[in-house]
Amino acid sequence: MDKKKLSSKNLKLAIQKEGRLTEETLELLRKAGLEFESYKQKLFSLCRNFPLEILYVRDDDISGYVEKGIVDLGIVGQNILNEKQPKVRKLLNLRYGFCSLVVAVPKESDISTIKNLNGKTISTSYPQSAKRFFKENGISADIVKISGSVEITPALGIAEAIVDLTSSGSTMALNDLRVLTGIYDSEAILVANEKALTNGRKLLVDKLLTRFKGVLAARSYKYVMMNAPENILGRLKEIVPGLKSPTVSPLVQKGWISIQTVIKEEIFWETVEKLKKAGAQGIIVLPIEKIII
Ligand code: ATP
Ligand code: ZN
Repeated sequence: MDKKKLSSKNLKLAIQKEGRLTEETLELLRKAGLEFESYKQKLFSLCRNFPLEILYVRDDDISGYVEKGIVDLGIVGQNILNEKQPKVRKLLNLRYGFCSLVVAVPKESDISTIKNLNGKTISTSYPQSAKRFFKENGISADIVKISGSVEITPALGIAEAIVDLTSSGSTMALNDLRVLTGIYDSEAILVANEKALTNGRKLLVDKLLTRFKGVLAARSYKYVMMNAPENILGRLKEIVPGLKSPTVSPLVQKGWISIQTVIKEEIFWETVEKLKKAGAQGIIVLPIEKIII
């Protein structure tokens, strides 16, 4: 156990100790300007420059810790929230840890629709999600709870179908499974204890939330500089949506201007192509470190 004791004054955040969410969670915290040490044996870290303690736990325990108030905040997959349905407040979708809970069957199976699953045995680590899904679809199946390696259970003859998480589909393919249908999509979520939002901690939670939002906003935009003839400014403004007042400065070359603006990542390429076609030149694109909203 670490020598330093957890302090009640600090905000507490639980994150996954080691797994699929860990790396990107640590990156988000660091990008939000939090300084702390983290290495595998550590149970918790104290931030040097923010009254925050980070607890490293199993992902399955995070929502329970937040619900009970053992920690104020947690970062956990939506899948765990859907499965456990804890009484916690969702604060922010974090845009990583993307995956889907799906129903899958062996490739050569003659099961072709979920209706064929009536009376079949289905193994999963997400029994509540699976039960809800089959009930909603009027299917009565036998749900068997398995804690790990669900994908091998059809080959072992334990189940005829599985309900499991997948992101790229490669584990499914590797185990000769075929996805029948999706149940829900998931991503990492920042959740809070209900009380943390009403007592003296709210101010700190809000501060942290603003920082996280700043990191996320920066990720979804690019900073773009370009040169263009003055007379096409109106057209360029039409191309970049939401851009009412870009920074415009005159160039030495008469009749030419330099324009600086931000463009949303998801429409970045199509926008840049349109700008080029309209007559913009020397387009320079820069990543944005943070956007404070
Ligand atoms: P722990 O030891 O913390 O219990 P775990 O093995 O249960 O870890 P991981 O496999 O590391 O959990 O997954 C953690 C979370 O990552 C999942 O709950 C889910 O939100 C997300 N995730 C993203 N992609 C996938 C995927 N392909 N399979 C499973 N989970 C995924
Ligand atoms: Zn787990």
